[in-house]
Amino acid sequence: MNQKQIGLYIHIPFCKQKCYYCDFPSYSGMEEYWEAYIDALVSELIIKAEEYKNPDIMTIFIGGGTPSLIPATYISKVLNTVYKNYNVLPDCESTIECNPGTLNDEKLRAYKNFGLNRLSIGLQACQDEILKQLGRIHTFEDFLFSLKLAQKHEFQNLNADIIFGIPNQTFADWQDTIDRILALDLAHISCYSLLIEDGTVFGELKEKGLIKEAEDELDRKMYHYAVERFNESGLYQYEISNFAKPHLRCRHNMNYWRRGEYLGVGAGAHSHYNKRRFANTADVSMYIEGVKKGKFILTEDNHLSKEDELEESIFLGLRLTEGIDFSVLSKEYGIDLEKKNYKKLEKLISQKLVERDGTMLRLTKKGMDLANAVIVELI
Ligand code: SF4
Repeated sequence: MNQKQIGLYIHIPFCKQKCYYCDFPSYSGMEEYWEAYIDALVSELIIKAEEYKNPDIMTIFIGGGTPSLIPATYISKVLNTVYKNYNVLPDCESTIECNPGTLNDEKLRAYKNFGLNRLSIGLQACQDEILKQLGRIHTFEDFLFSLKLAQKHEFQNLNADIIFGIPNQTFADWQDTIDRILALDLAHISCYSLLIEDGTVFGELKEKGLIKEAEDELDRKMYHYAVERFNESGLYQYEISNFAKPHLRCRHNMNYWRRGEYLGVGAGAHSHYNKRRFANTADVSMYIEGVKKGKFILTEDNHLSKEDELEESIFLGLRLTEGIDFSVLSKEYGIDLEKKNYKKLEKLISQKLVERDGTMLRLTKKGMDLANAVIVELI
């Protein structure tokens, strides 16, 4: 029997302090929940291993929140449960998200011993003033210190997250961030445009008229500059917001964009398995109580129809620079996509928003700027 190969996402929802722009399921000041939460994660992992018949794990991603905030013994407990109950493939890509100011020798030594082989470090900007304005807990020096520690412990597959379009961030600040980050010769960069979301400190400030999102023109100028600088420095764009050295794309995220299957454990974690998408409650105490009773409280549970799957393949696949293969999708879903979308395609091609390369369809540079609108038009 062919075992399924899937990704495994483990959510640690705790942070030292909530960043002002953050709308992820992450919470500060919940130290008293840490132990019970880890016990719940362990139980959920065991229950899911049985329920889903110990699938092969090709990637593990411990995300947050700030997984590097909690003691390494907790991470070890969780990973031991994974190794005991799942078939983790020998070449598994195993990532942990870290924040500067929370890493030390002991934690990194432990991560290495547990088999983690990729670190994703939240940097966001290289100017301390901007970091402060974002509500980050660290300085650029702290980031450099974490990076040196990681390198000392022989982590080579390193990612840094950075953000552009921050209120009051100038183009010169962004150029400086790119210069400094490129000098570090990292394997991977994730680079996102800041969205001010309701329910965040930035959301409130925006409502009061105290801050505003960057002008569209500046936001795009920053994005194009980053794409150009990264590509010419050997960090190739493979997704709208992600850049990597050859062979060092994030395999865990590639699986999301290619509609692969994955299980998510923890508060707010999402899963995609057996044509079903479902998500745990993001409420930490409800999550713990539910698991204690052997019951997962879900906030989303959708069975995917053929049309849903096809739509997902288009909107996720078009985020990738490789694009989507019309002939593969047509075969998979039994419709001639080329014929069905002929008029729309002609229009998008003439507007230089998408381009064809044999049976592949991908967004152009202009199309990437208008990705959502192009994708809506296509589906
Ligand atoms: S560290 Fe990350 S998850 Fe935590 S509050 Fe900041 S942005 Fe959100």
